[in-house]
Amino acid sequence: MLQLEKITKVYKTDSYTQWALDGVSISFRKNEFASILGPSGSGKTTLLNIIGGLDKYDTGNLIINEISTKHYKEKDWNSYRNHRIGFVFQSYNLISHQTVLANVELALTLSGVSKKERRKKAKDALVKVGLAKHINKRPSQLSGGQMQRVAIARSLVNDPDILLADEPTGALDSETSVQIMNLIKEIAKEKLVIMVTHNAELAKEYSTRIIELKDGKVINDTNPYDGNEDTKDNEEVKNKKEKKTSMSMLTALSLSLNNLMTKKGRTILTAFAGSIGIIGIALILSLSSGVNNYINNVQKDAMLSYPITIEAESMDLSSLITSTNSFNDEDGTSHDNNAIYSNSLTMKRANLLTGSLTKNNLTEFKKYLDDPNSEINKYIGENGVVYKYGTEFSTFSYDADEKLINNDGSTFDTNTSKMMGQMTQMSKLSQTKIFTELMSDGTDTVSHTIKDNYELLYGSYPEKYNEIVLVLNSNNELSLTNLYYLGLLPSSEYKEILTKMGNDEKIEFETKQLSYEDVIGKKYYLVPNCDFYIKNKIGLYEDVSDTIGKVSEIVKNNSLELSIVGVIRLKDEKNVNLISGNIGYTRDLTEYIIDYTNKSDVVLAQEKNKDKNVINGLKFTVTSDKEKAVEAKNYMLKLSTSEKANLATILLGSTSQGAFMMNMSEEMLAAALTNYLQNPDQKALVAIYDEYISPGSYEENMKEFGKVEMDTPIEIDIYADTFEKKDGITDAIKKYNETAQEEDKITYTDYVGLLMSSVTNIVNVISYVLIAFVSISLIVSSIMIAIITYISVLERTKEIGILRAIGASKKDITRVFNAETFIEGFVAGLFGIIITLLLNIPINIIIKNISGIAGISSLPILGGLLLILISVLLTVIAGLIPSRMAAKKDPVIALRSE
Ligand code: ADP
Ligand code: MG
Repeated sequence: MLQLEKITKVYKTDSYTQWALDGVSISFRKNEFASILGPSGSGKTTLLNIIGGLDKYDTGNLIINEISTKHYKEKDWNSYRNHRIGFVFQSYNLISHQTVLANVELALTLSGVSKKERRKKAKDALVKVGLAKHINKRPSQLSGGQMQRVAIARSLVNDPDILLADEPTGALDSETSVQIMNLIKEIAKEKLVIMVTHNAELAKEYSTRIIELKDGKVINDTNPYDGNEDTKDNEEVKNKKEKKTSMSMLTALSLSLNNLMTKKGRTILTAFAGSIGIIGIALILSLSSGVNNYINNVQKDAMLSYPITIEAESMDLSSLITSTNSFNDEDGTSHDNNAIYSNSLTMKRANLLTGSLTKNNLTEFKKYLDDPNSEINKYIGENGVVYKYGTEFSTFSYDADEKLINNDGSTFDTNTSKMMGQMTQMSKLSQTKIFTELMSDGTDTVSHTIKDNYELLYGSYPEKYNEIVLVLNSNNELSLTNLYYLGLLPSSEYKEILTKMGNDEKIEFETKQLSYEDVIGKKYYLVPNCDFYIKNKIGLYEDVSDTIGKVSEIVKNNSLELSIVGVIRLKDEKNVNLISGNIGYTRDLTEYIIDYTNKSDVVLAQEKNKDKNVINGLKFTVTSDKEKAVEAKNYMLKLSTSEKANLATILLGSTSQGAFMMNMSEEMLAAALTNYLQNPDQKALVAIYDEYISPGSYEENMKEFGKVEMDTPIEIDIYADTFEKKDGITDAIKKYNETAQEEDKITYTDYVGLLMSSVTNIVNVISYVLIAFVSISLIVSSIMIAIITYISVLERTKEIGILRAIGASKKDITRVFNAETFIEGFVAGLFGIIITLLLNIPINIIIKNISGIAGISSLPILGGLLLILISVLLTVIAGLIPSRMAAKKDPVIALRSE
């Protein structure tokens, strides 16, 4: 069944040529016990390796079951070794990191036998060689004889046809040798056993045939065979199916895992070494993502506090600030010490200041913003664009004593104390209105940005146009003045305080405390400006906002009732203060007022009569002196008695009547004026007109009434999320200006840009430096892993030989080492992440102590997982070359290595 025909094998080295086998022709029977004897170096091992398919012959032919192996491919040899051949070596060649059972099972895993069957077959084989008790031991825990039994069990487990044994007793004492020989003799009853030995006595005692080799030639054969005795049996063997051999990834993993487990200390150390790169990257990632988050938040907050603002009427602040630098010295030239030179810096600045007052056409610009195709929309942040309108209204409330109070504080204006004057002036200077519109966004009445920065203490956020919230600072406070202005405390108390202040008396201020229930449901009465203009008997619209009786009537009968539905406060001092006043109302209320105003009597009347002022009855434009005189006369006739009296002193004081006027009553003066107007001097009337009468303008009146067009905001605030996006917005506005008509060009104010333009650059530079660090760490750790894998390949050379001897393909070997690098990479990655998470704790404590910012260093989950993946990938890639190298190793050389 096995025939060697004139086999030669030559080893060539630089200096000489060694004929290891020189024309060996032998035929073996299906079962016999052949011993090969010969001196050292006669070619015995070479012959055995060629028969076992581990080594390739140079010339001649090896015929297995009448099939020539000349055209065998690599996978045929693998399968042949796995299914047909069992190898037993002098040095046992067990895999030291696997248990006895696993060593025996290994050959079966290669041939794809199920786990259960594998275990059973391996156990049976071990029982057969008398090792039932030792199956869970490691090879190092066994004696030499026991190890050789394991090797025999392994060679038999696949039920091969041929057992090849290379000096199986060479390393054993004589007593153990006899036991092993008996075992092999038993096996030889069913199989072909070819045993190499230099012990002639043992060979003669046990084997059925002795072949002697010398210098690569057969010099004696005690029982030659011509190949005719058992052809029938051969048929049976020939038909034995040869399955493909292949190692599953799981086997490869468990093989490598076991190997790594036996070297726990070293594996942990190498994984730790490998993890250093990962730790570096993970730390940088933690810090940079934390810093980035922080910077993003700072940017967002900065943009939230200082959006790009475009006002209908504005002053170009940026040109003013840049001018401070550019005009520092006259054209940059320095003068000689020989004379006095002028410096026109101040004049230039003054010139610029007057020139920088600009009007912006926000109607046109709003069209641009509303166009979804506009470039600017790419950069607008989550808070979007806020349009502010010039709605004009007053609000009133009743205090605890049912006294009506104007919430702008003007109720207290009448108080003559000197303190009062200062207070009103102060509040007018700071220009904060108590009632402020709350930011809204596309879907919600109150924008989520407000809800993020504020905390709802009680009740709810407003949902309807007539619902409002009370806004406190982060310490739950409200200024005492505003508490009085809002009618939440008795106004009499406030007046008392003011009087005391006026008299320079000492005042004890105690902290007032109100419960949420006290303010929830508190009512405010809103009167749009247009409602203060009431038509009088002579058909003119009279402003009654200063007439207390009229105002209280309007409040009672014709006002919009608002009520507080919630109390909110700024979450923390660090949060952005988005509500300047103490009462927040919704955009819905603004729209309600706009709508209401547009339909009001006074607005409709003025719109109907565009030439004539509905307040004073004067024409907006007069062209001739004659017209002026007529206007002046009509105007004066409609005045009240006291006003007439005033004008009478002015008009008639210089005339002959003037002398008598000193003692006249108001009524008499008024009558004198009426009388004079019967036959007036035209020149005097024109003079009065020019000096004392202003017809106003249509636009001014409409503004006064609070009339607003939705497409004409008075201010546009554009919010970006980052500085970069903000720069995108300003660039887009610049482009808009390039194409816009001269009068439509926009002047904007970009406070953040003025203050922080360099921050973006710094952030970018830091990011690039961090990325460079990351790359270096990655390269370093990859190189390290490659080296470690290479060392592992060197260490496991013997194992590679064994695996190849029992039928593993080159691919299987690659797989084993890839599995090892996979595990190594995974453990390294895991280590790295765990260590990083631990390191982040002290790092955060230190950063918190230094900068006061908490939780800067935190590893993003996705980043952590990704890093483990990267670690695995890089190690596997780094291990590819060493594992290829391992696969390419010649099995014969691998087995010969120690
Ligand atoms: P034995 O097993 O009978 O002691 P071997 O078969 O191991 O002999 O070796 C036969 C001859 O071939 C020896 O002279 C040996 O030095 C040589 N030889 C074996 N393997 C190699 C090799 N890889 N390179 C060079 N010479 C080799
Ligand atoms: Mg040898």
